[in-house]
Amino acid sequence: MLSRRNFLHKALLAGAGTGLLSHALRGQAGLETVMTVNGPVRPGDLKFTLSHEHILVDFIGADKVSRDRYRTDEVFNAAMPILQDLKKKGCMTFIDCTPAYLGRDVQLLQQLSKATGLHIITNTGYYGAVGEKYLPSHVHSETAGQIASHWINESKGIDGTGVRPGFIKTGVDKAPLSAAQRKIIEAAAITHLATGLAIGVHTGNGEAAKEQLEILKSRGVSPAARIWIHAQNEENKQYHIDAARLGSWVSFDGVNPEGMEAHIGYLKAMKTEKLLHHVLVSQDSGWYHVGEPHGGDFKNYNYILTDFIPALRQQGFTDGEINTLFTGNPAKAFSIGVRRS
Ligand SMILES: [Zn+2]
Repeated sequence: MLSRRNFLHKALLAGAGTGLLSHALRGQAGLETVMTVNGPVRPGDLKFTLSHEHILVDFIGADKVSRDRYRTDEVFNAAMPILQDLKKKGCMTFIDCTPAYLGRDVQLLQQLSKATGLHIITNTGYYGAVGEKYLPSHVHSETAGQIASHWINESKGIDGTGVRPGFIKTGVDKAPLSAAQRKIIEAAAITHLATGLAIGVHTGNGEAAKEQLEILKSRGVSPAARIWIHAQNEENKQYHIDAARLGSWVSFDGVNPEGMEAHIGYLKAMKTEKLLHHVLVSQDSGWYHVGEPHGGDFKNYNYILTDFIPALRQQGFTDGEINTLFTGNPAKAFSIGVRRS
C-alpha cells in the first residue's frame, strides 16, 4: 500500500510534469523535487553533484550564436567518454551552467543524460556579465516582468522540447550593476516567485553579490534563493561569511590545480564560521569550445574526485563535511520551492 507520503510525492511528480505544482504540496517537508533534463527527481536522488560545469560553450555573442555553428554528434562523441569517466569515479549529477545565447543545447544535454545515466540539470535566464555581450537585444527594450515571462514560459519546456530548467542562470560583472544587469536580477526574482527555481548569478565581486541581495529583497525574495556563483572572484572572505549568514548559497566553483590552495582557504574560513551548510564547490570545467577545431581543449571533470577531496581530508575535513558540500547542499540549493524574504 502506498503511504500517504509516497502518494503525495507521486501526486507532486505528476503535477510537476504538467506545471501544476501546488503551493500546499511544495511546502511540505520531504516532498521537494529537483528538475533534471529528463524530468523531476527527488533531491535525495542527486547524490554526488558537481554544481557548476559546462559541456558546450560558444563565446561568439548573442547576435551570432546558433546551433548551426557545430555538429551535435561531434560534441556528443567528445563529451560522452569524459562524462562516463566522471560517473565511474562517483559523480551522479552534473549541473550544466551554460545559459541561452552562450550555447545552451538542451537536446544535447538530454541525449548525454540518457546515454550516461547521469542526472543533468539545465537552466533558464540570461547572462549579463562580460559587458552584456551575451544578452539578447530585447533585454534593453523590455521590462523585468516581460523578460521574466520568457523564463517562466521556459520553465514549462524549453523551445518546444519538453526539457525543463532546474534553475535560473544569470550573470553580472563587478558592482555597480548596469541597468540591464539590475533588470535581469529583478526578472530572476519575479521568475523565482512564479516557479520556485533557484537563482544562480555569475558575479564579479562581493559588492555585486550584495547589490543582488538588495534587489531580491525589494522583490520579496529570500537570500536563500540565490546562489553566488564564482564567489572565489572575491578574495575578502568577510563577503562570503556575510552572504552565508543571510542564508545565501556561496559557490566556490573554480577548483583546479592552480586554485586548489585558495579554495581550501575559503572552505576553511567557512568551516571556522560553521557555515559549510551554505557552500557549494565545483570546477567550472569542460567543455567543447564552439568555433575551435574539434572543440579545442575539452578538459575532464575529475579533479575534485581524484585530488581535491583527498586534499580536503588531509586538511581535516570529515566525510560528513565532504558529504554536506557535494551531496546535501546541492540537493537543497536546487530544490524547487519559493523562498520569500
Ligand atoms: Zn561557468
